[in-house]
Amino acid sequence: MVARTDVADVLIVGGGTSGGVAARHLAEAGFKVVVLEQGHWPNESDFPGNKPEYELLAAKQWSPNPNLRGKPEDYPVNDSESDLPVIMYNAVGGTSVLFAACWTRALPSDFRVKTLDGVADDWPISYEELLPFYEINDRDMGVSGLVGNPAYPPGAAPPLPPFPIHKTGRRMAEALNRLGWHWWPGDNATPSMDYGHQKQCLRYGICRMGCPAGAKASTYITHFPLALNRGTQIITGA
Ligand SMILES: Cc1cc2nc3c(=O)[nH]c(=O)nc-3n(C[C@H](O)[C@H](O)[C@H](O)COP(=O)(O)OP(=O)(O)OC[C@H]3O[C@@H](n4cnc5c(N)ncnc54)[C@H](O)[C@@H]3O)c2cc1C
Ligand code: SF4
Repeated sequence: MVARTDVADVLIVGGGTSGGVAARHLAEAGFKVVVLEQGHWPNESDFPGNKPEYELLAAKQWSPNPNLRGKPEDYPVNDSESDLPVIMYNAVGGTSVLFAACWTRALPSDFRVKTLDGVADDWPISYEELLPFYEINDRDMGVSGLVGNPAYPPGAAPPLPPFPIHKTGRRMAEALNRLGWHWWPGDNATPSMDYGHQKQCLRYGICRMGCPAGAKASTYITHFPLALNRGTQIITGA
């Protein structure tokens, strides 16, 4: 009997955000990975953000709500008993195609809400245990930000420098200063300069419709190309 050579070590159902992270790291660790993704590879020239009718397109064909979008690869979601509609995207890259790229970590206290506030449950892991993985993700996703936020324990600097603070941000910062409240420039999974497969962010501000500049960290840019280079097979329209 001849041994089969086309057997995968790992099958990932859903080539979205976390599917991309798993595929890339498993492939880099030497595993043979197959990904089944019900959507298709995004085409950046289709993204609506740099088109004059972008607001109309974002309300229908590019809505984050699959029930409004209604593409062939979108399954309907029954949200009749939900206070909020489901928002997500079906494609290679998944919801990271449409996400806003605000890159906020949980605070150490968020892991201990039962102990500290008497609500819900404590997490079985701590911020400190997650820290090395947060830092790997920051490097993988081309995160821009300013190290040293005193609201968090010390850690590595984001791989890219922060963006300059614009007029609106300055106004907000000055208001917070008047109140004596802490503020810090937010981390963004948008690169402030060319980084790996990512182009420099041009600050269009329409990240939630897909990034036409190929800048925003979506796993179809940041992870799947590297997984493919290591032999991962991605089956789209699955
Ligand atoms: C508009 C918007 C803005 C957001 N902004 C932010 C933000 O600024 N910061 C932040 O941290 N988060 C943000 N989020 C949330 C974040 O994007 C998601 O939580 C995250 O991307 C989800 O990742 P996931 O891997 O769980 O799922 P997804 O990335 O949604 O991946 C799931 C994948 O599985 C595929 N799939 C599902 N079922 C099947 C099946 N049966 N067979 C094959 N394939 C299947 C889907 O097509 C999809 O590609 C935002 C989300 C939206 C919609
Ligand atoms: S260029 Fe920057 S601001 Fe514009 S959509 Fe891309 S990541 Fe977002």
